[in-house]
Amino acid sequence: MRFKDLVPVQYQEGRYQGDPVTLGVGGFGRVELMTTVNHGKYYAVKRVSKKHIVAKRQEEHMLFEKKILKSTQCDFIVLHAAFKDTRYIYMVMEFCGGGEIWTKLKESGRFDEPVAVFCTSCVVEAYAYLHKKNIMYRDLKPENLMLDVRGYVKLVDFGFAKEMVRGDKTYSFVGTPEYMAPEIIKNQGHDFAVDFWSLGILIYELLVGPPFSSSEPQKIYAKILDGVMKYPPYMSEAARSVISKLCPRPGQRLGNTKNGIKDVRHHWFGNMNWHKLRMCQLDPPTVKLIRKGPSYINFDRFPLDQTKADEEFSGWDRDF
Ligand code: ATP
Ligand code: MG
Repeated sequence: MRFKDLVPVQYQEGRYQGDPVTLGVGGFGRVELMTTVNHGKYYAVKRVSKKHIVAKRQEEHMLFEKKILKSTQCDFIVLHAAFKDTRYIYMVMEFCGGGEIWTKLKESGRFDEPVAVFCTSCVVEAYAYLHKKNIMYRDLKPENLMLDVRGYVKLVDFGFAKEMVRGDKTYSFVGTPEYMAPEIIKNQGHDFAVDFWSLGILIYELLVGPPFSSSEPQKIYAKILDGVMKYPPYMSEAARSVISKLCPRPGQRLGNTKNGIKDVRHHWFGNMNWHKLRMCQLDPPTVKLIRKGPSYINFDRFPLDQTKADEEFSGWDRDF
């Protein structure tokens, strides 16, 4: 693919009619919808100002994120290509037309169990792939899960991922407060086990809502360290059981004992056909969450951005 073959998709109606479609704006840049003139395939293109990256000292981060994304080949992780010019770096991703799991969760309050099982199963597949390559993900949350048009769930955003030798520990304070494992908060050193903790939190959030929440991070941390999770009556015994097994101390966490991630697959997921899931041969129950219409219908709308980043020539992006 050549970057110059991509053209912006425009809003077809509404108050932004004729403007380029923006799928999201994050701390770091904007994600726009683009297409190829000939094939009509859609791409989500994340554009980040190089000057901004330098100002925030994120050069290493961006290079690492690109390295990870270039070397991943997994149906449950969004595929990327990277480009750059004098002002921006561009991450071209396959377009996840179903929108964010976060949005769908806000719309429906909570998911029924088959939907939650399916979403979590896709995450387990992505984890299996990453952990086998010795990469911890460390930023699981509904905001980082996207649906493709079929309803398959994909992991996006590798800003906190890290490659690490098995048996090592790292001491960085990373993640999103609600999803942080106690050992990160206590700065005791952490490893792959934090991904299983966050998996437990995700299951809880999809079925009930966030288990540990507050507007102040300090209060969230206190709740996490207290470790009291209340299970509402409508939660199945199987769901309670898998969460309690994913969220104890790191050494005893499901997925982090000698059988590894295999153990996780045997709990709660009922009769999930993992092989068919991997081959993308299942009919995802998540389709019912996806609206039909113009390509951007599952996304919020954003006004045109007319600012243009300054050029940046320090050369940090030589290998990008
Ligand atoms: P960070 O979370 O590290 O600050 P960010 O929020 O700037 O990064 P992303 O989370 O990667 O950037 O993307 C921003 C938004 O753009 C997402 O929340 C999502 O709505 C949309 N988006 C990102 N990737 C895709 C994709 N592949 N397909 C469709 N929409 C996407
Ligand atoms: Mg994000």
